[in-house]
Amino acid sequence: MKTILNFLKKIINPVLGRAEVSGGHNAAPSIAEPFKIYSRSEHNISRSQVSENALKVLYRLQSEGFDAYLVGGCVRDLLLGREPKDFDVVTNADPDQVRKVFRNCRLIGRRFRLAHVHFGKEIIEVATFRGAGEEQNDKQLLNKEGRLLRDNVYGTIEEDVWRRDFTVNALYYNIKDFSVVDYVGGMADHKTGTLRLIGDPEMRFREDPVRMLRAVRFAVKLGFKLDPDCERSIHIDAELLASIPSARLYDETLKLFLSGYALQTFEMLRHYGLFQVLFPSTEDSLAVEESGFPRLLLIKALENSDNRIAEGKTVTAYFLLAAFLWEPVRILAQEKMARGEIEVIAYQDAASEIIGRQIKSTALPRHISMAMREVWSMQPKFNARIGSKPSRLIGHPRFRAGYDFLLLRAQTGGADPELAEWWAKYQNANENEQRKMTQPPRNGQSNKSGRKRSYHRKTKDNPPKTEL
Ligand code: ATP
Ligand code: MG
Repeated sequence: MKTILNFLKKIINPVLGRAEVSGGHNAAPSIAEPFKIYSRSEHNISRSQVSENALKVLYRLQSEGFDAYLVGGCVRDLLLGREPKDFDVVTNADPDQVRKVFRNCRLIGRRFRLAHVHFGKEIIEVATFRGAGEEQNDKQLLNKEGRLLRDNVYGTIEEDVWRRDFTVNALYYNIKDFSVVDYVGGMADHKTGTLRLIGDPEMRFREDPVRMLRAVRFAVKLGFKLDPDCERSIHIDAELLASIPSARLYDETLKLFLSGYALQTFEMLRHYGLFQVLFPSTEDSLAVEESGFPRLLLIKALENSDNRIAEGKTVTAYFLLAAFLWEPVRILAQEKMARGEIEVIAYQDAASEIIGRQIKSTALPRHISMAMREVWSMQPKFNARIGSKPSRLIGHPRFRAGYDFLLLRAQTGGADPELAEWWAKYQNANENEQRKMTQPPRNGQSNKSGRKRSYHRKTKDNPPKTEL
């Protein structure tokens, strides 16, 4: 009898599992049994791929009588044979119990308390299972759009699973028997490379619109496709992202664009209407594209940044952000100059206005916005090649970034390539040569300000001028 029951359960559970999935996590009753357990021989995760410190944490929790699992991105990445960014542990021990088990442990977070176990530079994050379900809704706080503001309820693994975003992010690697526990069909989605939200996509995006950005980030990083329901909901809900605090959107923006796949991410964010929420001024400037130039500068910057990451070099957030907002700054400055403002002032004012608009969407820490301004304000200064100005400019602490930005403009039609070459030569020249290069022309008719007539691309709306 028992075998027949078990057999029936095996057939029915998957069906139930799906039915519950499509009902949304709040609607999902907690299920007593996993959807499927993949034993050690049925998956490719080996302990040799897991960080030693994460293993120590898992074993220690287990020896203290607690359940302990790896969960989230690390399981997903290990299944793909990729090296995880970090290892997240989840347990039924509450944060205070975790603290008692580890000496090298600190509790963090107010919304949901997490334990950080420190091993030199490596931190293993240990979370307690999150609770869920209607009976605990009083402890969850939703705003009027249905966004989750607070949920600090601890629960069981069966509840925890419904709080996660994508099925492939909700696989649990059990240290007890090295199996992978799958309540939501994550393994099947993993095999087909599908990003599917757990539950009703619209509801899950309303709860936390940042999940839309995560969808794009994972799709690009893993080469997965979005499930059609998820795609449809992003098209509908993209605007909801605007309700997210700008500091969180800044963090997410960095994750999106400093991941090594910035160009693809940019294209995909635009496709889903998410980019315009993150960078409204940039999106507007792309609409007034002149012969493809503005788009080119940004694309080149994204490409360069991806290449640098691929080569193991560092990339700076402010440089990329300066590239994102350069076109809006330039267009606004042109307008101001057309109204009679002096070039330098017009650019300064435009920079302030554009930064002021941008921080309504994504925060920009002060040191970042300062650095962006410096890169921008250096651009007109590159036009001055006579006298002492070049040697002063080269001593600017951010000269290198400013020069790289000039190169970017020169490569994409926004500055005279000859100007960029001159600066390349000037940097490598010895003092004597540098002096020669910056001497006024023989006839002595140098421009008083030291500014040379600069290159400007010629378009119908943009007659040649003497500036940037
Ligand atoms: P990464 O490789 O970028 O670290 P990750 O999937 O591990 O990817 P984290 O932000 O580290 O992403 O989150 C760990 C896990 O926590 C996720 O896999 C997911 O299960 C859950 N999670 C994180 N953010 C959310 C969210 N906004 N909504 C629901 N679940 C989330
Ligand atoms: Mg992670």
